[in-house]
Amino acid sequence: MTATHVPGLPVIEDNQLISTNPATGEEAGRVPAADEQAVRAAVERAKEAAAWWQGLGWDGRRTRLLRWRSLLVERIDELAELTRLESGKPVNDGLIEVTAAVEHLDWAARHAKKVLGPRRMRTRLLLAEHVGHLEYQPFGVVGVIGPWNYPIVTPIGPISGALAAGNAVVFKPSEYTPVVGQWLVDTFAEIVPEQPVLQAVHGLGDVGGALCRSGVGKVSFTGSTATGKKVMAACAENLVPVVIEAGGKDALIVDFDADVRAAAEAAVWGSMTNAGQTCIGIERVYAVAPVYDAFVAAVVEKAGKLRTGEEIGPITMPRQLDIIRDHIEDALAKGGRAVLGGADAVQAPYVAPTVFVDVPEDSSEIREETFGPTLTITRVADVDEAISKANDSPYGLGGSVFGKKNAVRAARRLRSGMVAVNGTLTFVGMGNLPFGGVGESGFGRIHGEDGLREFARPKAITVRRAKSLLPAMTFERTPAQVRQIVKALRLLYGRKP
Ligand code: NAD
Repeated sequence: MTATHVPGLPVIEDNQLISTNPATGEEAGRVPAADEQAVRAAVERAKEAAAWWQGLGWDGRRTRLLRWRSLLVERIDELAELTRLESGKPVNDGLIEVTAAVEHLDWAARHAKKVLGPRRMRTRLLLAEHVGHLEYQPFGVVGVIGPWNYPIVTPIGPISGALAAGNAVVFKPSEYTPVVGQWLVDTFAEIVPEQPVLQAVHGLGDVGGALCRSGVGKVSFTGSTATGKKVMAACAENLVPVVIEAGGKDALIVDFDADVRAAAEAAVWGSMTNAGQTCIGIERVYAVAPVYDAFVAAVVEKAGKLRTGEEIGPITMPRQLDIIRDHIEDALAKGGRAVLGGADAVQAPYVAPTVFVDVPEDSSEIREETFGPTLTITRVADVDEAISKANDSPYGLGGSVFGKKNAVRAARRLRSGMVAVNGTLTFVGMGNLPFGGVGESGFGRIHGEDGLREFARPKAITVRRAKSLLPAMTFERTPAQVRQIVKALRLLYGRKP
């Protein structure tokens, strides 16, 4: 590293992408930077690898994916330490991240055959002479574009779904965490050395754009909403389907019958884990009046114990510090009160835990993704007001409700893809639940059955098993037969007298 390098900011020198720790500037590693041609070449290689991978069948893929899962478990400490070195993430957060990644890999490997495999469909009365078959066929090559904030679990979600479905994957890790991305690819190659079924291409945003235009069958993007729109535009050129996992501004609701201390503990974890750099992180709380004061006090007490440099790691992306500072200043300028942290919270590369009350709803701290260890708490009259304020956002990723009597009902009414009741972020840890958002948080799903189907095309086949008694789909039908078909239709589906 030369003296001009900003710690944590990726640089490309001599066709090498150099990755450094955001707190210390220590080099985490360097990887070859790709250009458009290299991306195309990787996708061409992946097409061949995909044919080989498909040839292994469900059981062959399952065995290999489960072996890779076990490798991740065996080398969990190494991976968490590498993630700390590269992104600054505390090792304990890294270990929990690997745990979630292992869950998704395991679930996808074990369930792909059942969810996507061929099945016979029940015959329909009007086409009784035909039998239906349904199966889900892989796209061939899937492009996965990843972010830096959870460099293990965010790509492993779509990668495990895509691989289990029978695709090869070309993965473009974030330029802030390419070394962790390459580690995932290298360890997969230890398990599957025969063909480049999982490859990485490294570089800045242009390499992601090249991947969208490189002939892949589908793109799974995780990152900011603004980049998600660019990815969609690039994919639209060739009608390449996309999954967009974008940003969020998730809310937590505290109802009158909530366990207030448990809610505070979860709010602090949900907003401050990974220094708040979490797509499904809690950024806003709406607490009903009877529990508001006790909740604010408990949050301040618990968040006040967190130490920067220990539980709160550095902000991985240096320019995010300016956004966090802007939001804090805007909240204070508009009349918000910091009950913890506040004006001086940003001390690069760290941000001290900051809790606001009385922040107006038009403040950027309420409306835009802050991606730092900050939280706003707003007093509301009841759950209806909480839901209407929580839903007043272009984003809709996750969310949380604390309470007893009405909590699940409130969870259903939140405009989001996922909600944790009496917990935060927990839905990301269950391999059988789909993960994804609505509105500006994106569309499509990873994880679970929906996440597997995202990486395969449904293929419908009908097979004639007898001559048609009442042929409908031929010019050789007679008017009498058509009348008989209509008669049968009336009998079957007409209104009963
Ligand atoms: P980002 O949008 O800056 O970058 C994401 C990826 O896109 C990177 O690999 C980047 O190189 C690539 N990219 C940049 N420009 C591109 C282009 N024009 N074409 C194709 N690819 C391009 O996001 P980030 O800062 O890495 O990640 C943080 C964001 O990700 C936050 O908004 C966070 O909420 C979101 N996120 C969402 C989820 C989710 O599952 N919904 C998970 C984690 C993070």
